[in-house]
Amino acid sequence: MQLVHWLTMQLKYSGYCVVCGNRISANEKGQWSPGLKAVRHLHCGNNADLADELKRKAIDYIIAGKIDEAKNSISDALKIEPANTEYLYEKANELFADKQYEKSAFLYDMIIEKQPNSIYALINKGAAFHSLGRYTDAIVCYDKVLELDERNEAARKNKELAINGFGRDEEVVTYGEDASLENKETFRYDIKTKSPNPKVEEETIIAVCAFLNSNGGKVRIGISDKRTVIGLERDYSTFKETDRNEDFFELHIREKMDAMSKNRLIVSKLTFAFPIYDGKRICEIEVPGSKEPVYFKSGQDEQFYIRDGNRSKKLSPSEIVKYCKDRFN
Ligand SMILES: [Zn+2]
Repeated sequence: MQLVHWLTMQLKYSGYCVVCGNRISANEKGQWSPGLKAVRHLHCGNNADLADELKRKAIDYIIAGKIDEAKNSISDALKIEPANTEYLYEKANELFADKQYEKSAFLYDMIIEKQPNSIYALINKGAAFHSLGRYTDAIVCYDKVLELDERNEAARKNKELAINGFGRDEEVVTYGEDASLENKETFRYDIKTKSPNPKVEEETIIAVCAFLNSNGGKVRIGISDKRTVIGLERDYSTFKETDRNEDFFELHIREKMDAMSKNRLIVSKLTFAFPIYDGKRICEIEVPGSKEPVYFKSGQDEQFYIRDGNRSKKLSPSEIVKYCKDRFN
């Protein structure tokens, strides 16, 4: 928030208070801002400062995930200044830009509670929901905008995109494992021991190696065998708090891949994406077919895998010789 200077003084001219809108007469004790060229009553000034403080606190609460406290602070602030939401908009936009969609949506929602017809807040709340994969919630926001302004182009376009978003969900649910797709519930979180486990990591790396040695494919992390979207939260929980993000997750997998295949060139050919399905972020690793054999290394042991139907198959030494002759020459 911009710092605005207010000087408390005996006013020289009469004017209208920027907070309450009522008249202030000349010679009354009030506050004048050289920057804003505006006046306000002394008590209105104190109230406005209090409202600013409450809003700043509310944002701190939101960032800390203390939603009830944030609600109370915002509600108190807007009781004092019902129309002054500029700072809240600014912060909601910042959270959105920072990909903190849930917090951003919450803040827009608080604004909408006070200003139910704010098209700007409704569209942005919709966009935040969309980014979270909550397409139904997004569409509700866009419909509300179209109720207020049926020709609103942004709402119309966004609604269309949200409807398409459903299609992607459908794809995950119906698109089971086959020769080119493998779903993994987690990358390193062991569901049985509830802690990180290198053996669990090996399973994904083996699937990647098998795709490399075959015709390529896609590994999805965060989707269960039953094709339920689980998300990456359990894997993220095994990292320290500052590392719980997509960039670190990708880096971690690339490093493991590098260590277990000893093939930097191959690792650089993998592409990562982090789409959101059903409100949860998953990880997709696109694996190309390799031009040379890629061995999986577990300690001193070298193993060779290929894709066989919907699983990774380990070949024996004689099978490897035959397979490589056919596949790589
Ligand atoms: Zn006033």
